[in-house]
Amino acid sequence: MHYGLDIGGTKIALAIFDDELQCRDRWQLATPVDDYEAFLTTVCGQIALADERCRDLASEQAQAEEHEQEQQQAMASVGIALPGVIQTDGTVLSSNVPCLNRRRVAEDLGARLGRKVATGNDCRCFTLSEALLGAGRDKRHVVGVILGTGLGGGLCIDGRLFNGANCLAGEFGHQGLAASVLLDHGLPLYDCGCGLRGCAENYVSGTGLGRLYRHFGGEADTYQWLAAYREGEASARRAFDAYMDALGSVLAGQILALDPDIFVFGGGLSQVPEIMEALPVATQKHLFAGVSLPEFRVAEFGAASGVRGAALLGRNQLLNESLLLNESRISKSNGPNSQASDAVNPPSKRSIANGSS
Ligand SMILES: [Zn+2]
Repeated sequence: MHYGLDIGGTKIALAIFDDELQCRDRWQLATPVDDYEAFLTTVCGQIALADERCRDLASEQAQAEEHEQEQQQAMASVGIALPGVIQTDGTVLSSNVPCLNRRRVAEDLGARLGRKVATGNDCRCFTLSEALLGAGRDKRHVVGVILGTGLGGGLCIDGRLFNGANCLAGEFGHQGLAASVLLDHGLPLYDCGCGLRGCAENYVSGTGLGRLYRHFGGEADTYQWLAAYREGEASARRAFDAYMDALGSVLAGQILALDPDIFVFGGGLSQVPEIMEALPVATQKHLFAGVSLPEFRVAEFGAASGVRGAALLGRNQLLNESLLLNESRISKSNGPNSQASDAVNPPSKRSIANGSS
């Protein structure tokens, strides 16, 4: 079994997956955001609950298959998706869940649980899940884009998550918005939570769309923007035009840097058909003539991608450890100059076992 936890600014989602990555159970609860001790205790409590649920599932299955003897249960893997940057030494930088900031969450939880815990950025977990099992599963170069409260994403190449030297790959929400978009639509430079000014996230996220709507005279938030847009309200239309131009410029930048086969979109705004339909034209506008566009698709797992990607992280960590263990056993039996590691871990184009690097 594999547990995936998606830690959000308001709620924690937990799902139990079997070895075929089928969801067997899931639930959610409130996130303790200000008290790290309470956060650790809550997560450990939920893992204990999941262990209990797994024992129930195993005994239900044994009964269904009329097995007399109780099966020995292997310890489930634990993967956690977090909002924020997770540095190479495991330190978390998060503004959405302040109590996690500058903490080594995987290490602290692992010590309490007595098992390895894998942590990853939530947008990267989304990308991993969609690249391996969802909308990008037949593509080599997959860029995930979450249009949610913030703007972020990730990159998977040949089924492996590409994190970069400092785990920053995918943080394009904090690139400055193109000057042409700011000037063409008369937009101000908004201050960003990261400390910079004019970051794309402040225009292209769900929150950003609401901000644009108000800038053009709307007196409501993103939710009411959609109804107003569909009714043809002028300020809602201007906000949409500016939004699409801003998003198109961000995606064009990603195409020039990464040249993906496909963009897979998640987050609330990916559920607005008008936005998805307008994406190719809005993106092409920011590219020179002759550049081919990648595919644009909505995520297959939607809101469940976070827990699924987190479970994949935990599962991969477990598989990589057993591979390393096998390698060391083989290299010991073959002597010090053995090249056995290549034999047990051949390069694989696309396998769930190799989902992160
Ligand atoms: Zn920023």
